[in-house]
Amino acid sequence: MAEDLPYRSLRSLADGLADGSLTALALAEAILARTAALEPRLGAFISWDGDDLLRGAEESDRRRRSGQARSRWDGIPIGIKDLISVHGQPLTNGSRMLGSYVSPYDATVISRLRAAGFLPWGRLNLDEFAMGSSTEYSAFHCTANPWDLSRVPGGSSGGAAAAVAAGLAPGALGTDTGGSIRQPAALCGITGLKPTYGRVSRYGVTAFASSLDQVGPLARSVDDVAILCATIAGSDGHDATSARLAVPDLLAEAQNFRSWTIGIPPEFFGEGLQPDVERAVRAAAAFFEREGCAIRSISLPHAPLGTAVYFLTATAEAFSNLARFDGIRYGHRSRGAEDAVDIYGRSRAEGFGDEVKRRLILGAFVLSSGFQDAYYVRAQRVRTLIRRDYEKALAQVDFILTPTAATTAFPIGARNMDPLAMYLSDAYTVSTNLAGLPAISVPCGLDGQGLPIGLQLIGRPYGEGDLLAAANFFQKAHGFHLLRPGAVEEGAAEEGSS
Ligand code: GLN
Repeated sequence: MAEDLPYRSLRSLADGLADGSLTALALAEAILARTAALEPRLGAFISWDGDDLLRGAEESDRRRRSGQARSRWDGIPIGIKDLISVHGQPLTNGSRMLGSYVSPYDATVISRLRAAGFLPWGRLNLDEFAMGSSTEYSAFHCTANPWDLSRVPGGSSGGAAAAVAAGLAPGALGTDTGGSIRQPAALCGITGLKPTYGRVSRYGVTAFASSLDQVGPLARSVDDVAILCATIAGSDGHDATSARLAVPDLLAEAQNFRSWTIGIPPEFFGEGLQPDVERAVRAAAAFFEREGCAIRSISLPHAPLGTAVYFLTATAEAFSNLARFDGIRYGHRSRGAEDAVDIYGRSRAEGFGDEVKRRLILGAFVLSSGFQDAYYVRAQRVRTLIRRDYEKALAQVDFILTPTAATTAFPIGARNMDPLAMYLSDAYTVSTNLAGLPAISVPCGLDGQGLPIGLQLIGRPYGEGDLLAAANFFQKAHGFHLLRPGAVEEGAAEEGSS
């Protein structure tokens, strides 16, 4: 069935391409047709370039016909968060600040996708400069959750998660500074991996908070996430923070079940946790125990301070990183400014949205001379305590099991006027970024309203293989990743029949 095509796994697509039952062109055409049909109600993309995708697909088919396929994945489109530079394509960061800027080069992760023959596809929606948890802070439009169009897809990689969940891309690349891959993956019922800090190059990726940012994959299955992570990971001369470590065969490692010791931190099961979410996550722990894993209660006493430490750290770093958007070097420049300082002020006032301004003001404040010690410096001390908690815990257990988010997808408009409520959406994800650890979110059931729930596993540094293996074992035994969101299709069907 043609409409099933975009829901096939990377391996199934690769098999079809290899045995000739599928061409890259047919796949690209199916994705474009589906995108045109569903996108008006979904809003997962900021823009897309159908001609570029078709051209790439034709070239891929030619390569394959002449026996020069770059890998078995050659010809498979991968959606790209509009924060990652793709040569010749617009880069907006979900902001009006960059105007009509077009990337003059590929980010390293894009070069690596291309080297394997994957086709970068579309510019996926996000909260402006990746600051947000619902995609409502995009300067363009909000993205709808494919499971319930009146709800948010999570954020900031909400466009990426919604596109994958709705079958508009077999996989996507996002970024995760405090949860922006895992939380939208959880809210959209797909799988998302934040690799270890240093595992993946950030060259060509707009910096938000440099000590926290990581690029990672979103896809429907753990296997697909493993394939994409192995493709983009590894040391890069253009990014001094990328680790000089060999990348293991993550797809092979993702098949190795072992009887792990798994830690459960009570700090992640407190007030505000939706009862359906708690039930599903505890059921996942019980499953691992039945399968021979040891479950232990561990303590992460400083984790509850994670949200405060994260917002002090991330806003301080963003204040410095976003200084380059000054109306002179890139993008939007205010007309009618009187001198250079006036250009900076007016261009930034016009170009940035409210949430970005809120963060820049907070960042300037926490770094200001009178308050630096009280806020920024103290936050760094507590960050060390959070990291030590994790080190101690991960010396006793192989990984840590928690909910990804305290609630399932919330209604559009429910939190966007209340920054604090929005910030608390990331309470379970931010501390792993502060500690630099890898973490994955996999679907673990539906709540009473039929909305997906995410299970988070947090691992040791560079322990992606084990993490993927555990998530995969859970996923294959349950099949929650095979459930499909009905809302977006029903809407399209109604429209088509009217
Ligand atoms: N939602 C968090 C924030 O608002 C994390 C964002 C991210 O990971 N990019 O900062």
